[in-house]
Amino acid sequence: MAKPKRVGIYVRISRDRKGQELGIKRQERACRELCEQRGWSVHKIYPENDTSASTTSRKQRPQYAEMMRDAKAGVIDAIVVYSIDRLTRRIAELTSFLEEQKAYAFQFATTEGEDTSTASGRMILTIKGAVAQQETERMAERINGALLQRREQGKPHAGGKRQFGFKAGSHFQELNDEETNLIRLGYEMLVRQKSPGDVSRMWSERGTTTPQGATWTIQAVKRVYRSQRTGGIITYKGQDIGDSTYPSPLTRKEWESVQVVLDRRATPAAQGSGKRKHVYSGFLKCGHCQATMRVQWATIQGRTFRRTFCNSSQRGGNGGLGCGKVNRKYDWIVERLNEVVEAALLTRQPTPPAASHGELTDEVREAEERIRLLRLRWKEGRMEDEDYFDSLTHLRVQLQQLRTREADAVAASTRTETDALAVWRDESEENLERRRAVVASVIKEVQVFSIGRGCRKPPETDSIKIALVSAESGGQEE
Ligand SMILES: [Zn+2]
Repeated sequence: MAKPKRVGIYVRISRDRKGQELGIKRQERACRELCEQRGWSVHKIYPENDTSASTTSRKQRPQYAEMMRDAKAGVIDAIVVYSIDRLTRRIAELTSFLEEQKAYAFQFATTEGEDTSTASGRMILTIKGAVAQQETERMAERINGALLQRREQGKPHAGGKRQFGFKAGSHFQELNDEETNLIRLGYEMLVRQKSPGDVSRMWSERGTTTPQGATWTIQAVKRVYRSQRTGGIITYKGQDIGDSTYPSPLTRKEWESVQVVLDRRATPAAQGSGKRKHVYSGFLKCGHCQATMRVQWATIQGRTFRRTFCNSSQRGGNGGLGCGKVNRKYDWIVERLNEVVEAALLTRQPTPPAASHGELTDEVREAEERIRLLRLRWKEGRMEDEDYFDSLTHLRVQLQQLRTREADAVAASTRTETDALAVWRDESEENLERRRAVVASVIKEVQVFSIGRGCRKPPETDSIKIALVSAESGGQEE
C-alpha cells in the first residue's frame, strides 16, 4: 500500500463532564507522533467527546460515523487511533470496521503497534487478539478493583513478606517501634553523608537482622530505604497513587530525600568511597599518564610514612595500568592541599538559597491539588478507570520530577548551611567521608609530577598542579 496522504485521527474520551481535555490531547499527540514517524500526513482529527464505545452503550458516535463516511468516500485514506479500545470495544463493530477497511482499502494503525501494512489476515488476527486481551485485562482490572479501592483508601496491600519497620502479621498497618527507630537513625546518618554500609554496621551492632533472619548487607539496607512502603507511599501496578493512612517509618518527604541521597551515591565519584582511608586518595592523578594514584603506608629503612604512587602492577579503576613513573611522599602533598582547602573554606561566601525553591514548592502543591481533583472526579464516577489511570500516571510522573528537584534544592541549601570549616577541622577517623566531601567541593583533581629519585631537597610547589572545582579553565597552579 502507498503511504497515506490524508490520515484521520480518531480520539475519544468517555463520560467527561468537565474540561478533561488532557486525555484527548494526549491521544492526539501520540497519534500525530506515529504519523510523523511514518511520514504520514494528518488530514483531520475526529474528537469524540462525552460518549462511550463500551459494550453496553447505545449512544450514537457522530464523529465515528463521520470518519467512516469520509474513509469510504476517500476523503481520508488512513485511520489512526491511540488504542483499539479507543476505536471500539464491541467485537461486532470491530469486525465490520475491518471488513470496511478491506473493502475501501484505507490503512489503519494504532499507537500500540497494530498495523495494516502487514498481511491483512495476520493483521485481523492480531487485532482480534488485542481485543480479546483488552477484554481480559479489563476483567482483571475489575477483579483488582477491590485491591485498588483498598489502596485508594490508603490501605497497603496486605500480602507479602514482613518488612523491616512493620509489626509481623499487622499487614503493614502497625509499626515495630524499635525497628522504626533504627530506620530513623539510619535516615539521619544517610542524609549526613554516611553510607548504607555504615547503617548496616549500626543495625548489626544493635543486634538486629533482616526480617528473614539474615545479616544486614548494604543491599538489604538499601532495599529498606528504596521501599515505598517505608515512606508510607501506596502503589498500584507500580504507580504511586497516594499516601497510606497508617503510620510509616519515614514521611514521604524524608523518603524522597533518601532517594536523592542514594541516587547521588550511585554516581562514579562516590563509588568505592567507603573503602578510602586517606582524605585525598582518588583526587591524585599521575602527572605523566593521568592514572589515579594509590596511597599506601610504606616502611623504608626503619621509617614508616605514607607514599602515593602511580601503580604499574595493578589495574586501576579505569581498567588500565599506570606508568609507574611517579612516586611521592603523601604527607608533603597533604600539607599543600590542606592549605588550599582551608583557604577556600575561609573565603567561601554562603550561597543564597536557590531562588526557584519556593516556586518549586508552589508547583508541587499545584500538581498535588490537580491529582486530588482528578481522584475526586473519578470517585464520583465522572471518569472512566482508564482515563483516570492515564491522567494519574501522567500527573504522578510530573509530580515525582518536581519533588526530586525540590528535594535537591533543599539538600543544596542544607549543605551550604552546615559549617564546612568545622567539619573540615574535625580530623577524627569517622569524619573521613565528610572531610572528603568537603575536599570534593573545593578540589577537582590534583596532578602529581615526579621529582626524581633520591631527591633530598624539598619538592618545588609546582610539582603538583591543583584543579579547583570553581576554576573555569579547569586548572589552576598553586
Ligand atoms: Zn603514571
